[in-house]
Parts: sequence; C-alpha cells; structure tokens
Amino acid sequence: MAQYNTNDFVICGERHNYYSYDGELYTDTFPYDWAENHIPNTGPKDCANCAEYGSWNGVFVGYCPNCALDYDGKRGSGFSSYGEEQDKSHELSANNTYMAGVWWLDIGDTDLVDSVKLYRKHQRDDEYHLMMRELIELEKDEDKHCLPEDRYQMHCRQEDRRITAEDAFIENRDIYTARDDAIDLQEKIRWLNVQANKRLTQEK
Ligand SMILES: [Zn+2]
Repeated sequence: MAQYNTNDFVICGERHNYYSYDGELYTDTFPYDWAENHIPNTGPKDCANCAEYGSWNGVFVGYCPNCALDYDGKRGSGFSSYGEEQDKSHELSANNTYMAGVWWLDIGDTDLVDSVKLYRKHQRDDEYHLMMRELIELEKDEDKHCLPEDRYQMHCRQEDRRITAEDAFIENRDIYTARDDAIDLQEKIRWLNVQANKRLTQEK
C-alpha cells in the first residue's frame, strides 16, 4: 500500500463526507492514494474538464474521460458530464467501485455547488442547440427549393417559426424546471426522513 502522510488529508464538511488534499476537495470514498498520485495534467487541479465534469456538489468524484484514458481505464471510464460516467457498465467505473450505492444527495454539499441544477442547465442547453440545428437544416432545405421571387415571404415564415419554437421551448423549460424542483424537494424530504430514522434507531 502507498505510504501517505494522513495529516495531509483532512476530513471536512458538516456531514464529514468529503476530504481536502493539496487544496482540492474529494468525496470521502475517492481513494487516497489516487488523490496523492495523479498523473501530471490529470485530476481536479491540472485538468479543467476533471474539475468541471468530474465534480459533484463541489467535490471531486472522478476523472474526465480523456484523463481516464491516461490510466488505461484502471481508474474508471471517466465522467463525460455532471454525474454521468462515460461507461457505467465499465468494470472499474466509479459506479461499480468506490461510489457503489452512494446517493447523489450524500456527495459533497449543495451549498458548495448545486450539481443537479448545473446538470439540468447543461441538458436544456443541449436540447436548445439540437432544436436550433434542426431548424437550420430545415431552412437550408427550403432555401434550395425556393424561387427567388418567393424568398422574402419564405424568410418571414422562417423567422416566425423560429420565434414560435423558442417561445415554446422557454415555456416548456419553465414547466420542467418547476417539476424538477418539486422532485428535488421530495428527494430531500425523503433523505431527511431516512436520516431521522437512522438517528432514532441509533438512540434506541
Ligand atoms: Zn481530465
């Protein structure tokens, strides 16, 4: 086993569920010897993708897919987006090893960063870009078949369609966000109940 100075690792957080090492925060189950031995240019300090996509609620949970390659998959397949592993079925994925059975609410602290919100914003941005790309493709196709004298009319129709699509998208997004917030609240209440029950059982 690797030798490390335990003084360098400080357990922190109100729930003692993460630690600090060399100026970075790690989820409590992230292996200490990995944190101590990142290959240069990988990990939360040296790689912006690791810091962004490999973190959940403000603490590091795993490498990005590019850095994961540097370890030949021995440290998992990497996180391609917030809380999403490139290959969940990978034998050594975080989900199957050091993060197995860990609930997203138990990782880090939403007061540091609220990763669910980041994740959803990211998803919505992707949906938006996809929608715009589809509209642009459609317009290119219409352009090809349009007679020059009809061009002005066609551009007006395209403009109207874009505005309508964007409005519908924004309206849907607000409905989804409200629904997601309600689900989060339910999850949080459920989690608090689980904690309260645990405490009651311990007190008995
Ligand atoms: Zn990385």
